Amino acid sequence: MPPGMTRKLETKKNGSFVPTVVVHNLIGGEERAPRAGAEIESRSACDQSDLVGIAPASTLEDVREACRAAKGAQRRWANMPAPARGEIIGRLGETLSRHKETLSRVVCREIGKPMREARGEVQEAIDTAHFFQSEGRRLYGQTVPSEMPNKELFTYRRPLGVAGLITAGNFPIAVPSWKIIPALLCGNTVVWKPSDDASTIAFLFGRMLEEAGVPPGVLNIVHGTGAVAGQAVLTCVDERLVDKISFTGSTAIGRQVGEICGRNLQVPSLELGGKNPMIVLRDADIDLAVDGALFSGFGTAGQRCTSLANLILDKPIKKAFTEKLLARVNGICIGNPNLSEDVFYGPLIAERFFARFMEHYDMAKKDGAKLITKEGRITAANKPANFVGDPASGYYVFPAIWDGVRIDMNIGQTEVFGPTINLIEVDGFEEALQVANGTPYGLSSSIYTQSPQTMLTFKQGIGAGMSSINNSTSGAEAHLPFGGNGWSGNGTRESGIWVLDAYTKWHAVNVDLAGKLQLAQIDVDFGQTREATDLSALGG
Ligand code: NAD
Repeated sequence: MPPGMTRKLETKKNGSFVPTVVVHNLIGGEERAPRAGAEIESRSACDQSDLVGIAPASTLEDVREACRAAKGAQRRWANMPAPARGEIIGRLGETLSRHKETLSRVVCREIGKPMREARGEVQEAIDTAHFFQSEGRRLYGQTVPSEMPNKELFTYRRPLGVAGLITAGNFPIAVPSWKIIPALLCGNTVVWKPSDDASTIAFLFGRMLEEAGVPPGVLNIVHGTGAVAGQAVLTCVDERLVDKISFTGSTAIGRQVGEICGRNLQVPSLELGGKNPMIVLRDADIDLAVDGALFSGFGTAGQRCTSLANLILDKPIKKAFTEKLLARVNGICIGNPNLSEDVFYGPLIAERFFARFMEHYDMAKKDGAKLITKEGRITAANKPANFVGDPASGYYVFPAIWDGVRIDMNIGQTEVFGPTINLIEVDGFEEALQVANGTPYGLSSSIYTQSPQTMLTFKQGIGAGMSSINNSTSGAEAHLPFGGNGWSGNGTRESGIWVLDAYTKWHAVNVDLAGKLQLAQIDVDFGQTREATDLSALGG
């Protein structure tokens, strides 16, 4: 479309003030309906009566077509100079900035993130675009000295081909931007299967990428469920239509992704679940730590992979800390974030998260943990005084704090993905560190202490991929590596320069100007040695 022209969204009236967006797949530069014609609804997590988008329920055929379009476009895209690809990525940053407020409103409406978090989410994508714009002017290889004369060695980063990206709905723009932007910058083309919890915002993000100048076929988006469209992307790995998978989601599905990629000898990027610990020691600034625990545990209704799960409290401060935290938790404003910027957390994003949250009560009770907050779903008859909106319109739940938890309990080991934390009492730092490392996960972690020595020992001893000292477990920056160990991932990282390794392979090249065949490992002449030194005069 010529510059200056605008492209309208297709919308449907739905009785509410804001219309429903008709979401299309993006394949080969065209917006398309799914071949099988089936659709999925994306309802607002805040208000299930609000139909935010109607999206294609794509099948294997749609996904194959997207992969073929991506394969067809890849060589040309890779041949575009990296700084020119970077310019397009930079324009994406500007486009997102221009639409930041509107996009944030869609994030808030579709998945129920409070506006300040939704704005932060869009800003993260903007920051990522600006970081990688300049990376297009680096994307460095190396010059390497040769063993032989008249010969030069070089390394180059080469794209992998078609990157299949599968993402979760709790970060519907920020996390996809961590994948799409570096994948494109490195010269790959993309097939993205966004979460069906957030189809509308994914569609709009795709429009922003097109508006920024990403050519047809370079970015393809196939909407749909995980079981069908997500699986189809993985089938395309077996069919050699996809050369790389980057997946963000649950550990259970991540394992399947790892198996499929493994049998195809591909290395996927896996960003999975967490059971993140926070340690508060007796020398900590308690008020600061309460602030950190409140946001880590209950911000985004606990639906962050980096949300706090196990709050490890040093015996001497446990009682005072718990009282302060409880007072703060009881005061937070829960409700529909579309209606008020005071809302601290909104609804659970999807019915399955609600079901799992409700199940966690039984698990914790069976373990012998004690609930010190209110229990269950918020209803019109049983709601906090400052609740905003109609509790029946979404999955709104009370914050949960469990006391008397030990790390070996099921509740200490299982990711719940909702607003719930466990209090675990310990006596001193050594025990705290052991407890913090006591789950199979290793995503984020945090410690509150004033002691530099303890900070150092914590940094050296913690098994997580990310650690905060005197800060909450959540909060990523666009230029710092993001990712986890153990059940939280396979050690690959998103963001910053580190993610370049996920979307490129190294190419080693030698240029021989000697005019004769020189063979490394066979006829290298490292020169003559001289006679040995006799050290016997020294009594040897
Ligand atoms: P999920 O694994 O169910 O879904 C994630 C994505 O995978 C979605 O797009 C989904 O449609 C797709 N999917 C589902 N089943 C699939 C299948 N069989 N084959 C292929 N794709 C499939 O995850 P969720 O429950 O929606 O999201 C919450 C989880 O994501 C939590 O465990 C959370 O910790 C994790 N998460 C991790 C990070 C991180 O960076 N480590 C970030 C956000 C969320």
